Amino acid sequence: MKTWLDAWPVFRQLTGNDPLGRGTAARSKATEQVVSRTATADHVAKSVCPFCAVGCAQKVYVEDGRITQIEGDPDSPVNRGRLCPKGAASKQLVTSPTRVTKVRYRRPYGTEWEDLELDTAMEMIADRVLEARRKGWQEEDGPPGNRHRVNRTMGIASLGGATLDNEENYLMKKLYSAMGAIQIENQARI
Ligand code: SF4
Repeated sequence: MKTWLDAWPVFRQLTGNDPLGRGTAARSKATEQVVSRTATADHVAKSVCPFCAVGCAQKVYVEDGRITQIEGDPDSPVNRGRLCPKGAASKQLVTSPTRVTKVRYRRPYGTEWEDLELDTAMEMIADRVLEARRKGWQEEDGPPGNRHRVNRTMGIASLGGATLDNEENYLMKKLYSAMGAIQIENQARI
């Protein structure tokens, strides 16, 4: 018969069949009611962590169209089910309440951020890119008498972020090179 002592983990550990207190002795009622987020998922998508060049494989658990958990994929020879703290927190890239979902703009000398329509922002970016390209354009380089043609712009540089994937980096390199930029880098060299 169970007594009030059975609610005490140390009692269960000393009198039950879990002498190391790593199983049933340590389980509380609250623990019994906990259900893993992976257990209720209705879909699991395989993906790759976007944060660095290691390329750890991930399992993305989805429930009712929303990501509920991201874990390392045990099938991957790269990470064998593990993720570092950045990869383990990558769910927040999508679900964080602090995620910015609108275009934010602070005008020159402005002190406040304002929302912009995406179309407006794209037009502004295009105007600035064209102007920077034109202003920084170099047709030739070298000392007088030894000039050679370069046809490049020094007005545009790109520093990509670690969350860009291979395909995005490929397209960015093509785009910037086509515009004549030569200063093209990516931060993900860790
Ligand atoms: S950030 Fe971490 S989890 Fe993501 S690919 Fe790199 S090592 Fe793997």
